[in-house]
Amino acid sequence: MVGGGQLARMTQPAALTLGVRLSVLAASAQESAAQVVNGPVVADEKSYADLRAFADGCDVLTFDHEHVPPEHLTALETAGVPVRPGSGALLHAQDKGVMRARLGALGVPCPRHRVVTGPDDVAAAVAELGPRIVLKTTRGGYDGKGVWPVDADTPAEAVAEPFRAGVPVLAEEHVDYARELSAVIARSPHGQAVAYPVVESVQRDGICVEVVAPAPGLDGELAARAQHIALTVAAELDVVGVLAVEMFETTDGRLLVNELAMRPHNSAHWTIDGAVTSQFENHLRAVLDLPLGSPAARAPYTVMVNVLGGDLPDVYPTYRHVMARDPELRVHWYGKGVRPGRKVGHVTACGDDLPVLRERAWHAADYIRGVIDE
Ligand code: ADP
Repeated sequence: MVGGGQLARMTQPAALTLGVRLSVLAASAQESAAQVVNGPVVADEKSYADLRAFADGCDVLTFDHEHVPPEHLTALETAGVPVRPGSGALLHAQDKGVMRARLGALGVPCPRHRVVTGPDDVAAAVAELGPRIVLKTTRGGYDGKGVWPVDADTPAEAVAEPFRAGVPVLAEEHVDYARELSAVIARSPHGQAVAYPVVESVQRDGICVEVVAPAPGLDGELAARAQHIALTVAAELDVVGVLAVEMFETTDGRLLVNELAMRPHNSAHWTIDGAVTSQFENHLRAVLDLPLGSPAARAPYTVMVNVLGGDLPDVYPTYRHVMARDPELRVHWYGKGVRPGRKVGHVTACGDDLPVLRERAWHAADYIRGVIDE
Protein backbone atom coordinates (compact mmCIF):
# COMPACT_ATOMS: atom_id res chain seq x y z
CA MET A 1 0.00 0.00 0.00
CA VAL A 2 1.40 3.34 -1.04
CA GLY A 3 0.78 5.91 1.68
CA GLY A 4 1.39 5.68 5.39
CA GLY A 5 -1.69 7.37 6.86
CA GLN A 6 -4.45 6.04 9.07
CA LEU A 7 -6.11 4.19 6.19
CA ALA A 8 -3.03 2.02 5.69
CA ARG A 9 -2.74 1.68 9.45
CA MET A 10 -6.30 0.35 9.75
CA THR A 11 -5.64 -2.03 6.85
CA GLN A 12 -2.96 -3.80 8.91
CA PRO A 13 -5.33 -5.65 11.32
CA ALA A 14 -7.33 -6.81 8.29
CA ALA A 15 -4.11 -8.08 6.67
CA LEU A 16 -3.25 -9.97 9.84
CA THR A 17 -6.69 -11.59 9.88
CA LEU A 18 -6.37 -12.62 6.25
CA GLY A 19 -2.80 -13.85 6.64
CA VAL A 20 -1.59 -11.30 4.11
CA ARG A 21 1.69 -9.45 4.48
CA LEU A 22 1.07 -5.73 4.16
CA SER A 23 3.98 -3.58 3.03
CA VAL A 24 3.67 0.16 3.30
CA LEU A 25 5.50 2.92 1.46
CA ALA A 26 5.49 5.84 3.89
CA ALA A 27 6.98 9.31 3.78
CA SER A 28 8.58 8.82 7.19
CA ALA A 29 9.03 6.10 9.82
CA GLN A 30 6.82 8.13 12.17
CA GLU A 31 3.76 8.04 9.94
CA SER A 32 0.61 6.41 11.25
CA ALA A 33 0.93 3.13 9.31
CA ALA A 34 4.72 2.99 9.38
CA GLN A 35 4.47 2.49 13.15
CA VAL A 36 2.49 -0.74 12.80
CA VAL A 37 3.75 -2.67 9.76
CA ASN A 38 6.84 -4.78 9.51
CA GLY A 39 9.68 -3.02 7.71
CA PRO A 40 7.93 0.06 6.36
CA VAL A 41 9.60 1.43 3.24
CA VAL A 42 10.40 5.10 3.73
CA ALA A 43 10.43 6.58 0.25
CA ASP A 44 9.00 9.30 -1.97
CA GLU A 45 5.60 8.44 -3.44
CA LYS A 46 6.18 11.05 -6.16
CA SER A 47 9.37 9.31 -7.36
CA TYR A 48 8.93 6.67 -10.07
CA ALA A 49 12.18 4.96 -9.09
CA ASP A 50 11.02 4.66 -5.47
CA LEU A 51 7.62 3.31 -6.49
CA ARG A 52 9.20 0.81 -8.89
CA ALA A 53 11.60 -0.47 -6.21
CA PHE A 54 8.76 -0.78 -3.70
CA ALA A 55 6.56 -2.64 -6.19
CA ASP A 56 9.28 -5.21 -6.78
CA GLY A 57 8.59 -6.74 -3.39
CA CYS A 58 4.80 -6.81 -3.81
CA ASP A 59 2.21 -9.00 -5.57
CA VAL A 60 -0.13 -6.06 -6.02
CA LEU A 61 0.11 -2.32 -5.48
CA THR A 62 -2.72 -0.35 -3.90
CA PHE A 63 -3.10 3.05 -2.20
CA ASP A 64 -4.24 4.88 0.89
CA HIS A 65 -4.55 8.20 -1.00
CA GLU A 66 -4.82 9.64 -4.51
CA HIS A 67 -1.52 11.50 -4.67
CA VAL A 68 0.68 9.22 -6.81
CA PRO A 69 1.23 11.02 -10.14
CA PRO A 70 -0.96 9.41 -12.85
CA GLU A 71 2.00 9.11 -15.26
CA HIS A 72 3.85 6.95 -12.71
CA LEU A 73 0.82 4.67 -12.38
CA THR A 74 0.65 4.08 -16.12
CA ALA A 75 4.42 3.53 -16.27
CA LEU A 76 4.17 0.93 -13.48
CA GLU A 77 1.40 -0.83 -15.38
CA THR A 78 3.48 -0.80 -18.56
CA ALA A 79 6.29 -2.38 -16.53
CA GLY A 80 3.91 -5.20 -15.59
CA VAL A 81 3.08 -4.18 -12.01
CA PRO A 82 -0.52 -5.08 -10.99
CA VAL A 83 -1.87 -1.67 -9.91
CA ARG A 84 -5.29 -1.85 -8.23
CA PRO A 85 -7.32 0.20 -8.74
CA GLY A 86 -5.75 0.70 -12.18
CA SER A 87 -4.55 4.07 -13.42
CA GLY A 88 -7.51 4.45 -15.78
CA ALA A 89 -9.98 4.16 -12.91
CA LEU A 90 -7.93 6.09 -10.36
CA LEU A 91 -7.67 9.16 -12.57
CA HIS A 92 -11.38 9.78 -11.84
CA ALA A 93 -10.59 10.07 -8.13
CA GLN A 94 -7.53 12.24 -8.82
CA ASP A 95 -9.07 14.77 -11.16
CA LYS A 96 -12.52 16.23 -10.49
CA GLY A 97 -12.75 17.58 -14.05
CA VAL A 98 -12.17 14.11 -15.54
CA MET A 99 -14.61 12.62 -13.03
CA ARG A 100 -17.39 15.10 -13.81
CA ALA A 101 -16.98 14.64 -17.58
CA ARG A 102 -17.09 10.85 -17.34
CA LEU A 103 -20.02 10.69 -14.93
CA GLY A 104 -21.89 13.09 -17.20
CA ALA A 105 -21.26 10.78 -20.16
CA LEU A 106 -22.55 7.84 -18.11
CA GLY A 107 -25.72 9.74 -17.26
CA VAL A 108 -24.89 9.80 -13.52
CA PRO A 109 -26.52 12.87 -11.94
CA CYS A 110 -24.00 15.49 -10.72
CA PRO A 111 -24.22 19.18 -9.78
CA ARG A 112 -24.28 21.43 -12.87
CA HIS A 113 -20.73 22.52 -13.59
CA ARG A 114 -18.19 23.86 -16.05
CA VAL A 115 -14.43 24.13 -16.13
CA VAL A 116 -13.17 27.70 -15.70
CA THR A 117 -9.69 28.73 -16.76
CA GLY A 118 -9.24 32.01 -14.90
CA PRO A 119 -10.92 34.57 -12.59
CA ASP A 120 -12.37 36.35 -15.64
CA ASP A 121 -14.55 33.30 -16.38
CA VAL A 122 -16.14 33.27 -12.94
CA ALA A 123 -18.77 35.96 -13.58
CA ALA A 124 -20.07 33.96 -16.58
CA ALA A 125 -20.12 30.82 -14.43
CA VAL A 126 -22.15 32.63 -11.75
CA ALA A 127 -24.55 33.85 -14.46
CA GLU A 128 -24.96 30.30 -15.76
CA LEU A 129 -24.88 28.26 -12.54
CA GLY A 130 -25.44 30.85 -9.81
CA PRO A 131 -26.28 32.89 -7.88
CA ARG A 132 -24.05 30.90 -5.54
CA ILE A 133 -21.38 28.63 -6.95
CA VAL A 134 -18.51 26.55 -5.61
CA LEU A 135 -15.04 26.71 -7.14
CA LYS A 136 -12.94 23.57 -6.75
CA THR A 137 -9.42 22.77 -7.70
CA THR A 138 -9.61 19.74 -9.99
CA ARG A 139 -6.53 18.12 -8.44
CA GLY A 140 -5.03 17.74 -4.99
CA GLY A 141 -7.96 18.91 -2.80
CA TYR A 142 -8.98 17.04 0.35
CA ASP A 143 -10.96 17.68 3.55
CA GLY A 144 -12.46 20.84 2.06
CA LYS A 145 -9.07 22.31 1.15
CA GLY A 146 -9.51 23.25 -2.48
CA VAL A 147 -13.21 24.21 -2.22
CA TRP A 148 -14.28 27.89 -2.30
CA PRO A 149 -17.91 29.15 -2.19
CA VAL A 150 -18.38 32.18 -4.41
CA ASP A 151 -21.24 34.55 -5.21
CA ALA A 152 -21.61 37.92 -6.89
CA ASP A 153 -20.32 39.71 -3.75
CA THR A 154 -17.12 37.68 -3.35
CA PRO A 155 -14.12 40.04 -3.55
CA ALA A 156 -11.91 39.66 -6.64
CA GLU A 157 -8.98 38.60 -4.49
CA ALA A 158 -10.91 35.63 -3.08
CA VAL A 159 -12.15 34.68 -6.56
CA ALA A 160 -8.54 34.59 -7.76
CA GLU A 161 -7.39 32.30 -4.92
CA PRO A 162 -8.43 28.94 -6.49
CA PHE A 163 -6.42 29.72 -9.63
CA ARG A 164 -3.14 30.32 -7.79
CA ALA A 165 -2.08 26.65 -7.93
CA GLY A 166 -2.12 26.75 -11.75
CA VAL A 167 -4.47 23.76 -11.87
CA PRO A 168 -7.78 23.82 -13.83
CA VAL A 169 -10.73 24.87 -11.68
CA LEU A 170 -14.24 23.47 -11.68
CA ALA A 171 -17.21 25.79 -11.11
CA GLU A 172 -20.30 24.06 -9.75
CA GLU A 173 -23.77 25.13 -8.77
CA HIS A 174 -24.06 25.46 -4.99
CA VAL A 175 -26.33 22.56 -4.10
CA ASP A 176 -28.88 23.19 -1.35
CA TYR A 177 -28.70 19.70 -0.04
CA ALA A 178 -30.73 18.15 2.77
CA ARG A 179 -27.75 16.01 3.77
CA GLU A 180 -24.69 14.20 2.45
CA LEU A 181 -24.76 10.47 1.80
CA SER A 182 -22.03 8.02 0.97
CA ALA A 183 -22.43 4.75 -0.92
CA VAL A 184 -19.42 2.49 -0.41
CA ILE A 185 -18.85 -0.69 -2.38
CA ALA A 186 -15.97 -3.10 -2.94
CA ARG A 187 -15.31 -4.68 -6.32
CA SER A 188 -12.84 -7.35 -7.36
CA PRO A 189 -11.05 -7.73 -10.71
CA HIS A 190 -13.40 -10.44 -11.92
CA GLY A 191 -16.37 -8.21 -11.19
CA GLN A 192 -17.74 -9.48 -7.87
CA ALA A 193 -19.06 -6.53 -5.89
CA VAL A 194 -20.63 -5.93 -2.49
CA ALA A 195 -22.42 -2.79 -1.33
CA TYR A 196 -22.39 -1.50 2.24
CA PRO A 197 -25.51 0.15 3.67
CA VAL A 198 -25.74 3.77 2.51
CA VAL A 199 -24.65 6.14 5.28
CA GLU A 200 -25.19 9.78 6.19
CA SER A 201 -22.01 11.77 6.63
CA VAL A 202 -21.85 15.12 8.36
CA GLN A 203 -19.09 17.58 7.45
CA ARG A 204 -17.94 20.62 9.35
CA ASP A 205 -15.60 23.06 7.60
CA GLY A 206 -15.19 20.49 4.82
CA ILE A 207 -14.06 17.75 7.23
CA CYS A 208 -16.13 14.67 7.95
CA VAL A 209 -17.08 14.71 11.63
CA GLU A 210 -19.83 12.09 11.95
CA VAL A 211 -21.17 9.10 10.03
CA VAL A 212 -24.43 7.29 10.79
CA ALA A 213 -25.00 3.85 9.30
CA PRO A 214 -27.46 3.34 7.81
CA ALA A 215 -28.54 6.90 6.89
CA PRO A 216 -31.49 7.51 9.24
CA GLY A 217 -34.89 7.50 7.58
CA LEU A 218 -33.46 7.08 4.10
CA ASP A 219 -36.15 6.00 1.68
CA GLY A 220 -35.49 2.40 0.57
CA GLU A 221 -35.83 3.24 -3.09
CA LEU A 222 -33.36 6.13 -2.77
CA ALA A 223 -30.89 3.90 -0.87
CA ALA A 224 -31.09 1.30 -3.63
CA ARG A 225 -30.54 4.03 -6.22
CA ALA A 226 -27.45 5.27 -4.36
CA GLN A 227 -26.00 1.75 -4.27
CA HIS A 228 -26.88 1.26 -7.91
CA ILE A 229 -25.01 4.47 -8.83
CA ALA A 230 -21.92 3.28 -6.93
CA LEU A 231 -22.02 -0.19 -8.50
CA THR A 232 -22.52 1.29 -11.97
CA VAL A 233 -19.62 3.72 -11.56
CA ALA A 234 -17.41 0.88 -10.30
CA ALA A 235 -18.28 -1.38 -13.22
CA GLU A 236 -18.04 1.34 -15.90
CA LEU A 237 -14.73 2.71 -14.61
CA ASP A 238 -13.42 -0.81 -13.81
CA VAL A 239 -12.69 0.13 -10.21
CA VAL A 240 -10.96 -2.55 -8.15
CA GLY A 241 -10.99 -2.26 -4.35
CA VAL A 242 -13.18 0.02 -2.27
CA LEU A 243 -15.06 2.82 -4.02
CA ALA A 244 -16.78 5.52 -1.99
CA VAL A 245 -19.29 7.70 -3.83
CA GLU A 246 -20.11 10.87 -1.91
CA MET A 247 -23.51 12.28 -2.81
CA PHE A 248 -25.85 15.09 -1.96
CA GLU A 249 -29.46 14.24 -1.15
CA THR A 250 -31.32 17.33 -2.28
CA THR A 251 -34.34 18.77 -0.52
CA ASP A 252 -36.48 17.63 -3.47
CA GLY A 253 -35.35 14.00 -3.19
CA ARG A 254 -32.64 13.80 -5.87
CA LEU A 255 -29.16 12.32 -5.58
CA LEU A 256 -26.22 14.24 -7.03
CA VAL A 257 -22.74 12.72 -7.00
CA ASN A 258 -20.15 15.01 -5.40
CA GLU A 259 -16.97 12.98 -5.51
CA LEU A 260 -15.31 9.58 -5.75
CA ALA A 261 -12.63 7.94 -3.61
CA MET A 262 -11.01 4.67 -4.65
CA ARG A 263 -9.57 3.46 -1.38
CA PRO A 264 -10.91 2.87 2.13
CA HIS A 265 -12.87 5.97 3.09
CA ASN A 266 -13.75 7.84 6.26
CA SER A 267 -17.45 7.26 5.60
CA ALA A 268 -16.89 3.51 6.09
CA HIS A 269 -14.71 3.45 9.21
CA TRP A 270 -17.87 2.35 11.01
CA THR A 271 -17.56 -1.03 9.24
CA ILE A 272 -14.66 -2.10 11.48
CA ASP A 273 -17.02 -2.44 14.43
CA GLY A 274 -20.41 -2.30 12.74
CA ALA A 275 -20.24 -4.62 9.71
CA VAL A 276 -19.52 -8.32 9.23
CA THR A 277 -16.51 -7.47 7.02
CA SER A 278 -14.68 -4.15 7.37
CA GLN A 279 -13.98 -1.95 4.36
CA PHE A 280 -10.26 -2.52 4.99
CA GLU A 281 -10.60 -6.29 4.77
CA ASN A 282 -12.80 -6.05 1.69
CA HIS A 283 -10.33 -3.65 0.05
CA LEU A 284 -7.57 -6.23 0.53
CA ARG A 285 -9.79 -9.11 -0.57
CA ALA A 286 -10.75 -7.14 -3.68
CA VAL A 287 -7.27 -6.09 -4.76
CA LEU A 288 -6.04 -9.67 -4.18
CA ASP A 289 -9.05 -11.05 -6.12
CA LEU A 290 -10.23 -13.09 -3.13
CA PRO A 291 -13.96 -13.69 -2.56
CA LEU A 292 -15.48 -10.65 -0.85
CA GLY A 293 -16.88 -10.69 2.68
CA SER A 294 -20.41 -9.78 3.69
CA PRO A 295 -21.03 -6.03 3.96
CA ALA A 296 -24.05 -6.53 6.23
CA ALA A 297 -24.42 -4.40 9.35
CA ARG A 298 -24.11 -6.13 12.71
CA ALA A 299 -26.42 -3.72 14.54
CA PRO A 300 -29.46 -1.62 13.61
CA TYR A 301 -27.28 1.53 13.87
CA THR A 302 -23.61 2.38 14.08
CA VAL A 303 -22.44 5.92 14.80
CA MET A 304 -18.86 6.96 14.07
CA VAL A 305 -17.50 10.29 15.26
CA ASN A 306 -14.06 11.48 14.26
CA VAL A 307 -11.71 12.69 16.98
CA LEU A 308 -10.16 15.87 15.66
CA GLY A 309 -7.15 17.34 17.38
CA GLY A 310 -8.28 20.06 19.78
CA ASP A 311 -6.56 22.25 22.29
CA LEU A 312 -5.26 19.44 24.49
CA PRO A 313 -1.73 18.50 23.43
CA ASP A 314 -1.82 15.36 25.58
CA VAL A 315 -5.05 13.44 25.10
CA TYR A 316 -3.99 10.33 27.02
CA PRO A 317 -5.83 11.23 30.29
CA THR A 318 -9.07 12.07 28.51
CA TYR A 319 -8.80 9.00 26.29
CA ARG A 320 -8.40 6.81 29.39
CA HIS A 321 -11.41 8.45 31.02
CA VAL A 322 -13.59 7.73 27.98
CA MET A 323 -12.57 4.08 27.99
CA ALA A 324 -13.55 3.77 31.62
CA ARG A 325 -16.82 5.68 31.26
CA ASP A 326 -18.19 3.69 28.32
CA PRO A 327 -16.67 0.21 27.97
CA GLU A 328 -18.89 -0.64 24.99
CA LEU A 329 -17.56 2.24 22.95
CA ARG A 330 -14.84 1.42 20.44
CA VAL A 331 -11.97 3.91 20.37
CA HIS A 332 -9.53 3.88 17.44
CA TRP A 333 -6.30 5.76 17.67
CA TYR A 334 -4.12 6.64 14.68
CA GLY A 335 -0.80 7.26 16.44
CA LYS A 336 -0.60 10.79 15.01
CA GLY A 337 0.57 13.95 16.72
CA VAL A 338 -2.31 16.13 17.91
CA ARG A 339 -2.85 19.33 15.90
CA PRO A 340 -6.06 21.37 15.92
CA GLY A 341 -8.47 20.03 13.29
CA ARG A 342 -6.35 17.01 12.38
CA LYS A 343 -8.04 13.60 12.35
CA VAL A 344 -6.28 11.71 15.15
CA GLY A 345 -8.75 8.89 15.80
CA HIS A 346 -12.40 7.95 15.82
CA VAL A 347 -14.95 6.40 18.13
CA THR A 348 -17.76 4.03 17.24
CA ALA A 349 -20.93 3.03 19.06
CA CYS A 350 -23.25 0.28 17.80
CA GLY A 351 -26.78 -0.53 18.96
CA ASP A 352 -30.42 0.21 18.33
CA ASP A 353 -31.14 3.53 20.08
CA LEU A 354 -29.81 6.13 17.65
CA PRO A 355 -30.07 9.25 19.86
CA VAL A 356 -28.26 7.44 22.68
CA LEU A 357 -25.54 6.16 20.33
CA ARG A 358 -24.99 9.66 18.97
CA GLU A 359 -24.85 11.14 22.45
CA ARG A 360 -22.28 8.55 23.58
CA ALA A 361 -20.08 8.88 20.51
CA TRP A 362 -20.12 12.70 20.53
CA HIS A 363 -19.50 12.86 24.26
CA ALA A 364 -16.44 10.63 23.90
CA ALA A 365 -14.98 12.52 20.94
CA ASP A 366 -15.59 15.93 22.54
CA TYR A 367 -14.22 14.79 25.88
CA ILE A 368 -11.05 13.34 24.36
CA ARG A 369 -10.28 16.55 22.51
CA GLY A 370 -11.04 18.71 25.53
CA VAL A 371 -14.14 20.53 24.28
CA ILE A 372 -16.07 19.35 27.36
CA ASP A 373 -14.75 18.26 30.73
CA GLU A 374 -17.56 16.27 32.25
P1 ADP B 1 -12.83 17.49 -0.84
O1 ADP B 1 -12.12 16.92 -2.02
O2 ADP B 1 -12.04 18.52 -0.13
O3 ADP B 1 -13.43 16.45 0.07
P2 ADP B 1 -15.54 18.01 -1.73
O4 ADP B 1 -15.83 18.19 -3.17
O5 ADP B 1 -15.96 16.73 -1.10
O6 ADP B 1 -14.01 18.34 -1.48
O7 ADP B 1 -16.23 19.20 -0.93
C1 ADP B 1 -16.07 19.35 0.47
C2 ADP B 1 -17.40 19.81 1.07
O8 ADP B 1 -17.80 21.06 0.49
C3 ADP B 1 -18.54 18.86 0.79
O9 ADP B 1 -18.57 17.81 1.71
C4 ADP B 1 -19.74 19.78 0.88
O10 ADP B 1 -20.10 19.96 2.23
C5 ADP B 1 -19.21 21.07 0.31
N1 ADP B 1 -19.53 21.15 -1.14
C6 ADP B 1 -18.78 20.66 -2.14
N2 ADP B 1 -19.36 20.87 -3.34
C7 ADP B 1 -20.52 21.51 -3.10
C8 ADP B 1 -21.59 21.99 -3.93
N3 ADP B 1 -21.56 21.89 -5.25
N4 ADP B 1 -22.63 22.58 -3.30
C9 ADP B 1 -22.67 22.71 -1.95
N5 ADP B 1 -21.71 22.28 -1.13
C10 ADP B 1 -20.64 21.68 -1.68
